[in-house]
Amino acid sequence: MKTNLQKETFSISSCPSCGSSAIRKIRGKWSGTYRGKTFTVNALEYFDCPNCREKVYPPHAMRRIQESSPAYGKSRAVRRAS
Ligand SMILES: [Zn+2]
Repeated sequence: MKTNLQKETFSISSCPSCGSSAIRKIRGKWSGTYRGKTFTVNALEYFDCPNCREKVYPPHAMRRIQESSPAYGKSRAVRRAS
């Protein structure tokens, strides 16, 4: 049972990549790939820039992606060496 329903305030008004103010929040199914395997996160909230296709993930979205990723399913001690 999860009880951490606290909302984190995260909003951006312009794209960090191209500076466009057209960037907007999206809530929907998100899919990513890890080592050739596709995994999806349902009802994920993130920001998408229609101008340059940049995607920005709030901290809680990052957490959900990590929780759903096969990379984090096996070992939590994995660090990115890049
Ligand atoms: Zn952009």
